This record gives sequence, C-alpha cells and structure tokens, in this order.
Amino acid sequence: MKDINSGNICIFESMIDKAEHICIVTHMKPDGDAIGSATAMYHFLSNSGKSPRIILNDPYPSYLSFLITPGLSEDIYIFEDQPEAASKEIIDSDLIICLDFNAFHRTDRLERPLEESEGRKILIDHHLNPARELFDLSFSETEISSASELLYHILRNTSAIGNDATRLGEKCAQSLMTGMTTDTNNFANSVFPSTLHMASDLLAAGTDRDFILNRLYNQYSENRLRLMGHMMKDLLKITGDGVAYIVLDRYTQEEYKTAEGDTEGFVNMPLSIADVRMSILAKEDNDRIRISIRSKKGTSANRCARAYFNGGGHENAAGGRLTIPEDIRGINEVGEYIERTTHTFLNDETHI
Ligand code: 5GP
Ligand code: MN
Repeated sequence: MKDINSGNICIFESMIDKAEHICIVTHMKPDGDAIGSATAMYHFLSNSGKSPRIILNDPYPSYLSFLITPGLSEDIYIFEDQPEAASKEIIDSDLIICLDFNAFHRTDRLERPLEESEGRKILIDHHLNPARELFDLSFSETEISSASELLYHILRNTSAIGNDATRLGEKCAQSLMTGMTTDTNNFANSVFPSTLHMASDLLAAGTDRDFILNRLYNQYSENRLRLMGHMMKDLLKITGDGVAYIVLDRYTQEEYKTAEGDTEGFVNMPLSIADVRMSILAKEDNDRIRISIRSKKGTSANRCARAYFNGGGHENAAGGRLTIPEDIRGINEVGEYIERTTHTFLNDETHI
C-alpha cells in the first residue's frame, strides 16, 4: 500500500484539521462499500470534532439502512431529492473526500459540482485507472478488497487511532466491516492478507459481525428469492463462448416488485457453472440498461466493460451501461448485442 506512508497520513490529518466544511462523496447507485466507507469516514470525522455531510446521487438501498444512524441521517443530502442543496454542499466545501470511485463521472449528477468546487479533494479508492490529477491527495490501491478496507488502513495509521481499532468507535468499525464484507461477497473474492488482518482487528475490537450478516443477508423480501429463481431458471442464457447472461426488463422488475439492491449478487451465480468464464446482468433502468459483469481469472471483466459497455471497474468485477439509441435501439436488442460483442471480445486476440 504505497500511498499509505507517514507523509501522506500527515497531509491527510492536516487537511482535515484545517477544513471547516467537509463533504463526503461516493459513487452513483451506492452499494455496501460506498455507504460503508462513507459512513465510516463520517463517524471518524464526527469523533474528531468535525461536522461532515454525506452527498449521494441516489438513495441508498434499504438493506443498508442500519448504517444510517439517527444523527447521521440528518447530514445526508441526496441529489435526486434535493438537487440544489446537494450541489451547494459540494460547491461550498473546503474539503471533499471521495470514496470508492476513480473519476468524477462515476457520481453521475454530482460530476458538475465536483468540477466546479474549489475545495481540496482527497481520493480513497480501489478501482483501476484512478484520475489522480483531479485530487490534491490520493490513496489508490487495487490489491485490496474494498474502499472500506483501504480507509481502515489509513485511519489506523492516524495519530487519533494509533493502531488501536477500539478507538474507531463502534459505528465507524461497523461501517468498515460492512463495506469490506459486501465487496468481498462475504469473503468469497478479493480477500488479501490485509483484509483478514482488518477483520481480525475489528472483531477483536468488539464489532458484532453476526448482527451485520443478519442485516445484510437475512432481511430480504420473499419476492427477491422468487425473482432469483425465475432469473436462473427462465432468463439465463449461455453462449458457445461461455458467457452467461440475463436480461432483466422493467416489466419483470415490476412483476416481482424489485427494489434497488434486490438483484445484488445475482450476477455472480452463473460463474458456478464449470464452462462459464464471464457472467453479465443487463438490467433495464429508466432511459438506459445497467450492466454488471463478473469473470473468472484469465478473463477481464474490466476490459470487456471498457470496450463494449461504456464502463470499467476491477479485473473480475466491472460494470457499465448501454444507452438507447446510441448503443442499441431497445431492450429487445440487448441479448444479441451481448452475444456479438462478447464473441468478438473473447476471440479477438487484440482484446485478450
Ligand atoms: P456492480 O456490477 O456491482 O454494479 O459493479 C461492479 C464494479 O464495477 C464496481 O466496483 C463498480 O464500481 C464498477 N462499475 C460499475 N458500473 C460502472 C461504470 O459505469 N463505470 C465504471 N468505470 N465502473 C463501474
Ligand atoms: Mn468498492
């Protein structure tokens, strides 16, 4: 973790120390790592006597609501609900801490205020291709489980924490453990020695993992499990190239009353099939199709997302979007588009 050194930690502490108006920003459609790292940062700053705000482009999914504690909920601004107030918070900030994304466009409608703001900016992220030039201080590391884990290693090196996880406080530790747990699919992928050290430190400090796991994985609706059954039985297609894909249109989402976050994790499931190298979930959103890609070692989800789905991410977990009419004319063409582009991707030497 080359960015975590005493010089950068010193700059990090002094930037926080001097700041009067701090906001915390994470990526659009926030997941467990985005909300976990953002709320952990919030608690660390609050414990340091600061009054930070969290700015989100979209509402957080309900399975993460246990991280939105009473005091914190008043300090969240969601662009979708309060566009002016959310933008103003960013523009007026003298310090902006950016978590779990590598470039401003990943925040969707927060991109403009982020560009406009003259506040100093800190990046804490674990994606490939970070736009370091946009930040005054960058902590970017890809050989790590999550932004939450990276934040943990930064915080434990500060003088306030002094390598003693109990000093993080219960809420901060809970948020960090949650973000790391969701981004590793509960220790199924992207687990590094440092990840287990973090888990061990937080458990020793008293973090209640059983509570977190119960909140994350045992609170879904009946509809969600039935939708999963339908997707795997009726909608899953597998191409001759070993690409599994599912197109989830808006009617099916309405039929199963699908809420944001309900399909979390489904894209991983087809990778359990021996011959499948890559799995793609295409989900119809308002005016676009959201794409999630997962791949086995040796096949790059990141490069496929960058080449054909206007996105990117990590080597084996990436995402992007298809827009109508630029990429396809409508949802009916998604299957054909996926089959054609992945065939080229997996068979054209220049991409492999
Ligand atoms: P998910 O499939 O869970 O939405 O996303 C998987 C990974 O890909 C995440 O790390 C996420 O940050 C990244 N990702 C998802 N969508 C996009 C996108 O549109 N652009 C880029 N650059 N990365 C994305
Ligand atoms: Mn992440």
